Amino acid sequence: MIRINENYLKLQASYLFSDIAKRVAAHQQAHPDEKLIKLGIGDVTRALPDACIGALHKAVDEMASDDSFRGYGPEQGYDFLREVIAREDFQTRGCHIEAEEIFVSDGAKCDSGNFQEIFSTDITVAIPDPVYPVYVDTNVMAGRTGESADGRYQGLVYLEGTRENGFIPDLPRQPVDLIYLCFPNNPTGAMATKEQLKQWVDFARDNKALILYDAAYEAFVQDPGLPRSIYEIEGGREVAIEFRSFSKTAGFTGTRCAYTVVPRECMAYTGSGEATAVHALWNRRHTTKFNSVSYPVQRAAEAVYSPEGKTQVRELIAYYLNNARYIREQMEALGYECIGGRNSPYIWIDGKSDSWEFFDLLLTKAGVVCTPGAGFGKCGEGYIRISAFNSLENVEEAMSRISRSL
Ligand code: PLP
Repeated sequence: MIRINENYLKLQASYLFSDIAKRVAAHQQAHPDEKLIKLGIGDVTRALPDACIGALHKAVDEMASDDSFRGYGPEQGYDFLREVIAREDFQTRGCHIEAEEIFVSDGAKCDSGNFQEIFSTDITVAIPDPVYPVYVDTNVMAGRTGESADGRYQGLVYLEGTRENGFIPDLPRQPVDLIYLCFPNNPTGAMATKEQLKQWVDFARDNKALILYDAAYEAFVQDPGLPRSIYEIEGGREVAIEFRSFSKTAGFTGTRCAYTVVPRECMAYTGSGEATAVHALWNRRHTTKFNSVSYPVQRAAEAVYSPEGKTQVRELIAYYLNNARYIREQMEALGYECIGGRNSPYIWIDGKSDSWEFFDLLLTKAGVVCTPGAGFGKCGEGYIRISAFNSLENVEEAMSRISRSL
């Protein structure tokens, strides 16, 4: 008899986006002529940079000829991409990362979801609240939690983000083995300083723990004093894996390319305490289960680092950041406290009411769709997330409607 992995039955159905869709559909039915503005979903809206499109076309043409056709590539990614990533994203910024420590993939979602697989199921896992739900759900699927009660899974250590700590969680009071962190944060837009990250790195070193650091929004960090990588922190190489993505950096959400950095110094331990290189484990997992990203897409990602690519990516990020700044300024002018929107495309707004109530207010009074913070965890209650991924015209229109209606 084929049996299921019963851990899947513990998963709480995520009603967030389906509930939003239902409320939006009901509103649209009642007001068919109203043009809704969607500032809810974290997907980019602008086209791929020209440099990437040019590289993509060229690589597709190479695939059309027997002489230049490429079949399976190296599972970890082509050297041309791994080398330029190591140089441009890390070495030129003073971080010691080698090309062999880069694993190219088709998404930070898959990597941040899959990485836990190489660790024991009886480790203690610390996860922020509010949070990008992938970290929680993949640990539930793997059997690292008990049942869910009152919005929380038994066995997980929740790192609470609150108004008091500015949504930068405090260190746990107990030892933990695996720690998920995400900066700039989704959903809150909060950004940790080097000093704050140093505390996490030191904690991980002291506890022989490992940090899974999701830096999918790294390109939005503009303040030169803020860390763009956990490897800017002394000791980071010993205790941190970093996830990066071209999705938000260069509009690759539909094209799919990302990478994970696994430094050779990172260790995990056997039951008897013997150290094993995480790099070797991940390499084994990756080469067994993954056949890398298509050649044209890797060429398109490489073009992000060309002189034109860099300029175009800078413009793309500046465009969204200008939207974010505008949203934050407008909401603050209306008397709402905001986090994010400065080194992040997300603005996290204290709605001074129930998350869904505020969501409904913006939908019905302004025709603007946001995301209720409660959908990202218990600590998100009372907040909403507005995303800067839209055209400036739509953002301006949304904010003037919100100003008129609040
Ligand atoms: N990590 C975070 C924090 C995200 O918000 C997202 C997407 O919204 C991802 C990862 C997924 O990135 P990718 O498109 O590379 O799978």
